[in-house]
Amino acid sequence: MSHPTQAGPQKARAEIRMPIAMLAELTHRCPLACPYCSNPTELVRRDEELSGREWADVLRQAAGLGVLHVALSGGEPAARRDLEEIVAACRDASLYSNLITSGIGLTERRLRDLKSNGLDHVQLSVQGAEPTSADRFGGYRGGFERKMAVASWIRDNDLPLTINVVMHRQNIDSIEDVLALAIDLGARRIEIATVQFHGWAEKNRGALMPSREQVLRAGLTVQAARERLKGTMVVDYVPADYYATWPKACMGGWASTSLNVAPDGFVLPCHAAGSIPGLVFENVRDRALADIWRNGAAFNAFRGETWMREPCGSCERRSVDFGGCRCQAFALTGNASATDPACSKSPLHARLVASANAQAASGQSDFIYRRMA
Ligand code: SF4
Ligand code: SF4
Repeated sequence: MSHPTQAGPQKARAEIRMPIAMLAELTHRCPLACPYCSNPTELVRRDEELSGREWADVLRQAAGLGVLHVALSGGEPAARRDLEEIVAACRDASLYSNLITSGIGLTERRLRDLKSNGLDHVQLSVQGAEPTSADRFGGYRGGFERKMAVASWIRDNDLPLTINVVMHRQNIDSIEDVLALAIDLGARRIEIATVQFHGWAEKNRGALMPSREQVLRAGLTVQAARERLKGTMVVDYVPADYYATWPKACMGGWASTSLNVAPDGFVLPCHAAGSIPGLVFENVRDRALADIWRNGAAFNAFRGETWMREPCGSCERRSVDFGGCRCQAFALTGNASATDPACSKSPLHARLVASANAQAASGQSDFIYRRMA
């Protein structure tokens, strides 16, 4: 079924592959208040969250569907007291579990229990390498120090560690420091992601948008680090797309390899898909995960290539970048079927670059922080 208001009827049903990865957003609760948070402005309340038993069922269904890898995310997953049982449910379903955490809410004991319940990997976020500014970027005093302790417990428990960091105008010039920190902490991998403007982050565009020069320098720094650190640490990098020639291959193609389950059980093709009005999302409380994946209206709205309009429809890169990001296309054009304006072929590309340049030059430094009710 096609997108009801924007994609038009599909000419032919796209091939449906089975997903290999699932993002399980266990809760939207989080002690931090990162100004670049991509979670929606309206958060799921605690009393709407799936129970541990419901998550165990979703995890079994995911494994049956072909999912191999589950990212346990949030919000802060450690805010759930039953995180240990959810990790055990991943193990029981033979799923590889990756805990994506700010570290706040974890103790040495909890990490030991998580490990013995089968946790396979931890991805710890940092906001920078310098404590005062990192705590400001996370909106949480003492966060940096706590994260350093958590990293040492992860290492002591022999759990593989990835450090992830979101880079924006106010910290992107310190990539070298963050790389050095990650090595000190014993990380095997670092994920450096340039800020994306979804959810709450949209409110802080002016204070977060990096300049073109910063982005170019960051790219060179990462390239040199990859060479230098070969065999020591893997450096993954999500570059900024607002100054790029081509858009990012968002999600490796809509509804092609992974799915996202929100804290209240709604199943989305990507983390930000709820920002597209008119898409109809289904809930695991009402419908089987496999049925949602194959037949859910939101999943079929932009699956494959038949929904594409020009210039994507006849473009030789359409199976490379899939027309870019649908959420960004909607946010910037009001039409989720449009070519992502990050693409230089989009008629709106020049306007996007001009507005990014203006935001980067705004000099704005104060953030708007989210406070949990
Ligand atoms: S981005 Fe920051 S505030 Fe948002 S969920 Fe992650 S740690 Fe919490
Ligand atoms: S026109 Fe569409 S398919 Fe071609 S490069 Fe741009 S976004 Fe990708």
